[in-house]
Amino acid sequence: MYAEIIVDIASEQVDRVFTYRVPDTLEILPGMRVRVPFGLREKEGFVIRLKETADYDESKIKPILASLEPYPALLPELMELAWEIRAKCHCPLCEALRLMLPAEMRGGRVKVKTREYAQLLIPPERIEEAISAQKRSKTRQLLIRLLSDGQPHPLDELRPLMRDLRTPLAYLAEREMVRVFEKESLRAPYYGRVDAPPDPELTPEQAEALSELIPALNHPQKPFLLQGVTGSGKTEVYIRLVREAMRQGKGAVILVPEIVLTPQMITWFRSRFGDTMAVLHSRLSAGERFDEWRRIRMGDARIVIGARSAVFAPVEKLGVVIVDEEHEQTYLSDRFPQYDAREIAVSRGKREGAAVLLASATPSVYSYAMTRRGDYTLLEMPHRVLNRPLPIVHLVDMRQELRMGNHGMFSGLLQQKLEECIAGGHQAMLFINRRGYASSVNCRKCGETIKCSRCDVSMTYHSFDQTLRCHYCGEIRPMPKQCPACQSPYIKPMGIGTQKVEEELNRRFPGAGVIRMDVDTTSEKNAHFKLVDRFRAGQAKILLGTQMIAKGLDFPQVTLVGAVMADLTLNFPDYRSAERTYQLLVQVAGRAGRGEQPGEVVIQTYQPDHYAIRSAARQDYRAYFNQEFERRRNDLYPPFTMMARFLCEAKDMSAALGAAEIVKNRIVEEFSPSPLYRRILFIRADEAPITRIQDKARAQVLMKLLNHPDTDRLLRRFQEMAGEEYPAKVQLEINPASLA
Ligand code: ADP
Ligand code: ZN
Ligand code: ZN
Repeated sequence: MYAEIIVDIASEQVDRVFTYRVPDTLEILPGMRVRVPFGLREKEGFVIRLKETADYDESKIKPILASLEPYPALLPELMELAWEIRAKCHCPLCEALRLMLPAEMRGGRVKVKTREYAQLLIPPERIEEAISAQKRSKTRQLLIRLLSDGQPHPLDELRPLMRDLRTPLAYLAEREMVRVFEKESLRAPYYGRVDAPPDPELTPEQAEALSELIPALNHPQKPFLLQGVTGSGKTEVYIRLVREAMRQGKGAVILVPEIVLTPQMITWFRSRFGDTMAVLHSRLSAGERFDEWRRIRMGDARIVIGARSAVFAPVEKLGVVIVDEEHEQTYLSDRFPQYDAREIAVSRGKREGAAVLLASATPSVYSYAMTRRGDYTLLEMPHRVLNRPLPIVHLVDMRQELRMGNHGMFSGLLQQKLEECIAGGHQAMLFINRRGYASSVNCRKCGETIKCSRCDVSMTYHSFDQTLRCHYCGEIRPMPKQCPACQSPYIKPMGIGTQKVEEELNRRFPGAGVIRMDVDTTSEKNAHFKLVDRFRAGQAKILLGTQMIAKGLDFPQVTLVGAVMADLTLNFPDYRSAERTYQLLVQVAGRAGRGEQPGEVVIQTYQPDHYAIRSAARQDYRAYFNQEFERRRNDLYPPFTMMARFLCEAKDMSAALGAAEIVKNRIVEEFSPSPLYRRILFIRADEAPITRIQDKARAQVLMKLLNHPDTDRLLRRFQEMAGEEYPAKVQLEINPASLA
């Protein structure tokens, strides 16, 4: 017997199967991890296939040395999926296979943890007799008594009860009165139990959605996209659907953004599903992750809730895959291979005959476009549960405030609403959608934003040389002294930090208490949860934060939400900036009025007429989508095109740029004679928007490609190019989550 094996080395050169002999002494199955000789070393490998004969000289074929686990670590369905990822993400198969396993399993970095047990072998009716027979040793008598229920007892629990455990245990074990053995123990991250609340009666909208979803559990259908406003009760739909899958003996995978995966949420799911549920997220220790993975692989856990990579959880007989908050960027892997967990969810559903449910209050342009094309089925829940109203949204034109002489960061209306909210004993959330490194340049008088002449994205202010740069095409302009539209001198880089707002709040509302949540205040482990708990307990009236407070949090006492400067994400130099602004504002607004009290929202903006802001204020997803889609079509942005780039990293910029130039010139040389060249709408080599990360200089070859069947031929060739030698580290990215 022979086995085709992928050796666990991530390199284009060894991205093919190697044949090994299966020794008679080993039982090898497809999907197993094995140790094999490779060159002069030993390597780990994955068994892809078994075959009867070898296609070349048998005497040259080396044997498999050992299997690493007594079971196939990879399910057949997931192995097939790996081939698909290899083709789509243009990566070696071995890297796709690695996604399917806890990273720590490779190289034997985690081991199964075992615990030692002792168990009495004496039948119950003869125990007293045995105790009297040991009258020369009090410790042996005590040990027999402790074990008298006949159950296995962990040694570490017995040890504190006895002065000496080792001697009597050895004595009794030798005489076969006690059995000592090892058993696997699980480092499961349990968070304690809570009693499940009684099931609420479904709203008509929830019932309607479920009546379409449940049949998909046994008759595979198109993926579903559930657009449900904030507070419409999407979670209850997931729970009922998963429960029905379980009833039919099927498993479930529920993906949520990492940040939403709070202990409260996990406890809440566990209260409904108990120990049949496993959790996978980045805060688990290596051992915990491995043990959770094994509980899933062994079939002890049939429901998996987790962040992005949980889409690869080895659940057999999969009934349903749910992607909550499907618009979130976190579903795009930021590491190589850059897979999209939503795409994988859809693909798994199709392969394994499972229902796929994507859900969001603000679906991604891509997914909603799929419902328009008829590739996904749209489900809608336009109302909140229990007839709770959606919050009332006020748009404040900050240009107007300036005209009235208000130079501060709070409009008259926001100030007034905050006063009322605090006086009424309620809580408020203030939100600044600030993104780290870049700021756009705006006129505070007329609202004009300086945009690139070629790209329809905002230009970014670079303070070190006071220039404006387009991060898409590289255009550079000096920072203007006057607004090009109205000639006013009030043209400035935008950007106020959470810290500045915090100071201002403390000055204006002394004694109200302000909790600030941003990357600086949440860097410590669990700091995020502590701050949330303090706010929930009412220790502060105002929660101030960045996007991290926009998601998933449910504070019934919050009646007022303010977006201090809604335009910050809007002017971010990315074609998705309107999409992200809409999503953020709707999510933020959704934090208001989740309890008994109705909510109000104040959105401060310099561009009150922008479609993303206007439709967010009305929570009108369709109006927003229609305009966004048109714009993407007109300006040739995804989903009509794709962005591809070679990211080149080196110690100094000249090497990085050098590599980028080489790549670009090769592409131009190789393809300009071919009709394929017309699929490249633009190509340029320059510095990446963030020129240095972790002391590596970054350059890029950025391309916009037309979406066309034969574009794939280009991409495959690009991938080969990326695998070659350059004076810098070169990686190909396709539609990356961030173009920074
Ligand atoms: P969404 O995820 O759609 O924003 P949630 O799932 O968080 O909404 O639900 C909002 C609130 O409504 C939660 O507190 C939830 O317990 C409650 N809820 C959900 N369904 C019902 C129902 N049918 N009847 C009463 N309350 C419900
Ligand atoms: Zn102006
Ligand atoms: Zn440009």
